[in-house]
Amino acid sequence: MQNKRVMLKLSGEALAGPKGGYNEDKVRDIANQLKPAITNGANIGIVIGGGNYWRGRTSEAIDRTKADQIGMLATIMNCIYVSEIFRSEGIDTAIFSAFACGDIAEFFSKDRVNERFAEGKVVFFGGGTGHPYFSTDTGIVLRAIEMDADMILLAKSIDGVYNADPKIDPDAKKYATLTMQEVIDKRLAVVDLTASVMCLEHKMPLAVFDLNEEDSIKNALDGKINGTIVTV
Ligand code: UDP
Repeated sequence: MQNKRVMLKLSGEALAGPKGGYNEDKVRDIANQLKPAITNGANIGIVIGGGNYWRGRTSEAIDRTKADQIGMLATIMNCIYVSEIFRSEGIDTAIFSAFACGDIAEFFSKDRVNERFAEGKVVFFGGGTGHPYFSTDTGIVLRAIEMDADMILLAKSIDGVYNADPKIDPDAKKYATLTMQEVIDKRLAVVDLTASVMCLEHKMPLAVFDLNEEDSIKNALDGKINGTIVTV
């Protein structure tokens, strides 16, 4: 095991089923890929986006703050679903929220999260930062820094960071490694700019790889990244 404490980001869209709802098989596969690392004592934190339900920035009809509140609640719903599938696969889990959620999730506190990690639980961080005008990219970077994580793993629907959009430009080249300063200078869409600057400032490395490649999460947890590593 290369990494002791890792934060994994799953986009909301990646969890969606073909006809809406969730892709249960994919979530079960993710659970099974995490098991060896959990058995080896790694602490795994998970942040899930909300794009399968809602993105605040694409809603023009209502106030942005309210739209973002819907987005943050969507991330909590995703945490509940994925956590329950993980439990049915025999993985102990805990859900934390950036805002009070009654009995649905514990209110985020570094000490309480550390307690859950010590209990061997996979910890879900729902609700992003708890504030509008941020994203779950910023949410995961913030929590990774707060929780002293070793690195962030971004499981995406693309197999790394390219110098151009490979769907549009057939000559687009994938980077094996990059610095976060290059990501910022070249405005490469790895995570949003706020999240990139936070990674740079607080020296939080990340890796990008394809969620849909077989065993990509398991391999990434073993330090084998078939994608792009962004150093700080
Ligand atoms: N969001 C927010 N503050 C946060 C995190 C998320 O307001 O700290 C809202 C925002 O509306 C965002 C939505 O939640 O569009 C879903 O998150 P994101 O777009 O990051 O999800 P993804 O695209 O990764 O599925």
